Amino acid sequence: MSGIRLEGVRKRYGDSIVAVDDFDLTIENGEFVTVVGPSGSGKSTVLRMIAGLETITDGTISIGDRRINDVQPQDRDIAMVFQNYALYPHMSVEDNMSYGLKLNSGRSDEEIEERVREAAEMMGIEDQLDKKPSELSGGQQQRVATGRAIVRDPAAFLMDEPLSNLDAKLRAHMRTELQRIQEELETTTVYVTHDQEEAMTMSDRVVILNHGEVQQVGTPREVFTEPRNTFVAEFIGSPSMNFFDVRLRDSTLVGHDIAYSLSREFADRIADRSANEDLILGIRPEHMTFAGTDDRNDIDAVLEVREPVGDDNYLYLRSRETEFTMRVLGQVDYEEGDELQVSFDESDVHVFDRATGENVLVTRNAVSAARAETTRQDA
Ligand code: ADP
Repeated sequence: MSGIRLEGVRKRYGDSIVAVDDFDLTIENGEFVTVVGPSGSGKSTVLRMIAGLETITDGTISIGDRRINDVQPQDRDIAMVFQNYALYPHMSVEDNMSYGLKLNSGRSDEEIEERVREAAEMMGIEDQLDKKPSELSGGQQQRVATGRAIVRDPAAFLMDEPLSNLDAKLRAHMRTELQRIQEELETTTVYVTHDQEEAMTMSDRVVILNHGEVQQVGTPREVFTEPRNTFVAEFIGSPSMNFFDVRLRDSTLVGHDIAYSLSREFADRIADRSANEDLILGIRPEHMTFAGTDDRNDIDAVLEVREPVGDDNYLYLRSRETEFTMRVLGQVDYEEGDELQVSFDESDVHVFDRATGENVLVTRNAVSAARAETTRQDA
């Protein structure tokens, strides 16, 4: 077992397309890391470079202590699981699972058989070993593809959207199953998905990509509670975070729809850390509550659409200039068209620089870095 390290990795196609730029990441031994981002953000390219299916334009990739830039894919000691399971249709499940090992592991038939049996048990397909892939459901085929990766006992699993062909219920089930197996085997895993919920539920850490650039790396909790920029804030969490254009006036965030007065301490932190006047107040739909009192921090809004989602309600609201969403658990007494007031706690407020999109409370921008430097020199 080994960790994986990518240093300054870049992939350019032709002269103009930079699919992945300056990618730095150290994946610890046994860690489950998910690379998530919209379509075309470079996720598959990252995985394919680790697998050796794509050459890299710049940088270094290592598995354990070994630099693998020039190592052939079959010699990298990794196993891939894809969205299309890529099973051999004419082979039985057992043969599909053992084929790779028989081809180039030099292990005895007995040992291979034992490993296949163990992996099949782990995946719950031990009674399917004689069947052909066409006789199996999508979920069972996915289990075979995963079992085939397990049999090889690789240094790392690389998984590219492995659950996206399954229906929603099975996908949720397979998520927990893959997680359980990964924890049991403690095999370093890099998992690619466009589905933020999948990333947030399965991973030790999440890497968020956009346009080939890393936006943030962190635990699911970190990227949710401290998104580094508006892209991460919007991409992670469902429904997405709401944004209101504001400026800081004394200790109040003032916009067309909002005048949210802050504690002195919070206002000072924002003033201290933001280089620009134009800010964005971010608040998650689940952090909004009905206010109803005439508090000056309330937002007046009209309920445009009410959408029940299980026990939850998604309320689509409009204030003068901004559309926003509120997520409320349980009974909602308002009807579409009703006017209402909503509010939220200061502790749930995120503040971004409108020009750069950066979270002024979690990133150290040039201004605050320079100030810190000056203070240090003065001291
Ligand atoms: P994702 O997996 O996030 O959808 P990809 O890694 O597949 O994104 O692609 C990243 C970018 O690289 C996209 O702009 C895509 O069009 C481009 N790209 C991927 N493969 C090739 C290729 N073989 N030739 C040219 N451009 C490519």
